[in-house]
Amino acid sequence: MRFAPACLLACLLGLASAAAARPAYDDALLRKLRAAAGAVPGALPEELRYAKFAESPRTFAATVEGGDDTPYAQARTAYQLRYPDGWIMVDAGMDEAVHRFFGRGAEEPYDAAANARIQRALRGARLVLVTHEHGDHVAGVLRSPHYAEIAPKTILTARQVDTLVRAPQMPELRMDPAQRRDFIVVDFDDVLPVAPGVALVQAPGHTPGELMVYARLRDGREFLITGDVSWSYAGIEQRLQKPAAQIARIGEDATAIAFQLDWLNGLPARGIQLLVNHDDLVQPRLAAEGVIGEGLRLDGEPGPGE
Ligand SMILES: [Zn+2]
Repeated sequence: MRFAPACLLACLLGLASAAAARPAYDDALLRKLRAAAGAVPGALPEELRYAKFAESPRTFAATVEGGDDTPYAQARTAYQLRYPDGWIMVDAGMDEAVHRFFGRGAEEPYDAAANARIQRALRGARLVLVTHEHGDHVAGVLRSPHYAEIAPKTILTARQVDTLVRAPQMPELRMDPAQRRDFIVVDFDDVLPVAPGVALVQAPGHTPGELMVYARLRDGREFLITGDVSWSYAGIEQRLQKPAAQIARIGEDATAIAFQLDWLNGLPARGIQLLVNHDDLVQPRLAAEGVIGEGLRLDGEPGPGE
């Protein structure tokens, strides 16, 4: 068999990037993720809080393969990891124009005050992480009136930047290539330490730049913010993909997601509390039980029990 040199090079590059693009989701990856989270010395986060700023009323049928017509509200959320002397944000909310894109013509609930609070939390954060390059997760950085303040402390991966420059979910998210220098842009194969107790793990599939965010708190509890790998706990518990029409619409890599679902399915038994960003059933219960905090805490405001 003969290859033209250009093709040979492209094929080799293709193989190399494909190998780098998909971590092996196994116990070795979990060990590496835990080690990465322990790599940066310093006080560990004391609590993980979440805030819901919008919702899309859907059904299980529109959320998970084989789901029925039972209503299922897809919450849109952001997270805050609080340290004794500051905090990290995970995901950034979105403005109302981007919210309307997701309504596809329908009016869906949007909490402008909650989003304004996320903006305050982004301004006050030491570091901002985004699970992926879709509008409901990243627009709060890209389209923020405080962009110049927030972008320099926001980590984007090279894959996220690539999507935002070349193939954004909507025109409102398109990044100029020169904007790359506004952000902390990183590239890594599988895991990356980012702060005491916190590490990223690549999860390409829902989008090329999808990440999951692992956090170990001071009291030893472990969390994994799972982004949009699944839109429901049912999807992880039963290892079910999104409906075929959604996979096609989004352009997901279902094979990659199958490996991720298998891995996530086994993590609770290994002591890890999963957080599903769009869930609106389990997270409110976790908040009621005090496992996670509800709403963001900003400096100078009294906390729980204070
Ligand atoms: Zn999303």
